[in-house]
Amino acid sequence: EFKDNTLVVVFGASGDLAKKKTFPALFGLYRDNFLPKGVHIVGYARTKMDEAEFHKRATQYIKNPDNSPEITEKIEEFKKLSSYISGSYEDSDAFENLEKHLQGIESAYQGDETHRLFYLALPPSVFIPVATNVKKFNYTTKGINRIIVEKPFGRDLDSSRELLGSLKKSWTEDETFRIDHYLGKEMVKNILVLRFANIALNAAWDKNSISSVQITFKEPFGTEGRGGYFDEFGIIRDILQNHLLQVLSVLTMERPVSFASEDIRDEKVKVLRAIPPIEPSDTLLGQYVAANGKPGYLDDDTVPHNSVCPTFAATTLWIHNPRWEGVPFILKAGKALNEAKVEVRIQFKDVTQGIFKDISRNELVLRIQPSEAVYLKLNTKTPGLYTRALPTEMDLTYKRRFQDAKIPEAYEALILDALKGDHSNFVRDDELDVAWKIFTPILHWIEGKNGAAPKPVPYPYGSRGPKELDAFIGKYGFRRSQEGYVWPVTSLS
Ligand code: NAP
Ligand code: NAP
Repeated sequence: EFKDNTLVVVFGASGDLAKKKTFPALFGLYRDNFLPKGVHIVGYARTKMDEAEFHKRATQYIKNPDNSPEITEKIEEFKKLSSYISGSYEDSDAFENLEKHLQGIESAYQGDETHRLFYLALPPSVFIPVATNVKKFNYTTKGINRIIVEKPFGRDLDSSRELLGSLKKSWTEDETFRIDHYLGKEMVKNILVLRFANIALNAAWDKNSISSVQITFKEPFGTEGRGGYFDEFGIIRDILQNHLLQVLSVLTMERPVSFASEDIRDEKVKVLRAIPPIEPSDTLLGQYVAANGKPGYLDDDTVPHNSVCPTFAATTLWIHNPRWEGVPFILKAGKALNEAKVEVRIQFKDVTQGIFKDISRNELVLRIQPSEAVYLKLNTKTPGLYTRALPTEMDLTYKRRFQDAKIPEAYEALILDALKGDHSNFVRDDELDVAWKIFTPILHWIEGKNGAAPKPVPYPYGSRGPKELDAFIGKYGFRRSQEGYVWPVTSLS
């Protein structure tokens, strides 16, 4: 339910996430009239700055490519709705001061109810003190309180349980919104509709028809001098354990009883519980090295010179339930690769041999980014006086099909959900727990907790990944059905 008279408090308002994502998303919602009436945004961090400086920072990533006067005016209005308070994350005085500021704003509200949404755009080292202080000093008794937290939710099962346990001392599960921004992406949200609103697709969505599934994240740049943070986490914690696993769960869950958030999350947890921990033998790790004038990972001065941190990982997961037994789900992600792309590639089985021989397999591709698209690679008769199968596609490119539609940013969609109290696209406590159960043993193995740490194989900056990749994927039955498949490049693709 959407509440008027809401205060949004952004902690860590001087930081990278706040300026690049949180404030632009809040602005996007404001611009399109999606924020509640009487909304006010308060930025909070230790950095001392005046309101003008805060407004400059908070709006610097807002896009207005055509210099539209309408947007310029909206930005000015948006500045008027937002204010800034500086203070520490530990001192009671600072939170009391913040509380005075919040009450000052609320005193202008009509009616008795006021609501508060607290957004923690902070490093995990201060999650707990801030969450605890906010509960103690800034928790309103006149309405609803909600708190948004960002990854990383721990480093493994034990540390995640510890963090969750500490947060739970002050915030209930119902008040907590754990962001995995992949769940806010348009194409990920589309998966439920594609699957459950189409009987033709739904009928083929199992081990009888599907040979393998790949969920791929590719980034064309490396750590570029900012590898210090990355090195402590690695690509598996950064991308696979959260974002790609979330996509996997939506792709494979059973049909929920309703679209209610707990019905959806119950099904996601159920399918994740059917996945055993990943085996080292189902894993390929890589680290990029210098190539084409670009530096290698170890050339980054912020990275330890002997780091064995993987910047590329491919892992295969198995789901032990009647729908998916035996189907490999390959999650792969890497930095410094040949392109920017996030996609799901579902490869179907061969048609029965006999009338056709060695023809391409069907593939359903959901391109999450860039340029959202869904396409089904299928065989058609070669036009003309032959009866020969030719690999082509049925294509739904969003830019072409929905020319006037504006696809919201993931953060816009998620902040709006949090304002409405809809948990469907946030990660529940038990979901996080089972996600860590799947990944913790392999992460401990990689860190050398049970013996020597495995050494990632090198791959050149700008390549598709380690040269071992195609054999790794091939081991799970994937066949590149490329021969003869040509995509006609148009201005819209
Ligand atoms: P950040 O810029 O490093 O930190 C945000 C703010 O927190 C800083 O401006 C700083 O503000 C304060 N801060 C930084 N280090 C601190 C420390 N050691 N102790 C106390 N305060 C400290 O982080 P961020 O990139 O915005 O990310 C915030 C959270 O979102 C993190 O948990 C991150 O993992 C997550 N996240 C970020 C992104 C992204 O795109 N950046 C994406 C997904 C998730 P003051 O010094 O002014 O207090
Ligand atoms: P593709 O880019 O050819 O990739 C197909 C698969 O083969 C991926 O799993 C890829 O792995 C792998 N692969 C790519 N290059 C390889 C190589 N040199 N050796 C071995 N394996 C390789 O994708 P596609 O679906 O067949 O489409 C072909 C082109 O048509 C793409 O550029 C696609 O964007 C375009 N297309 C666009 C639309 C649209 O915009 N609506 C529709 C249909 C097709 P990695 O991902 O790990 O590299």
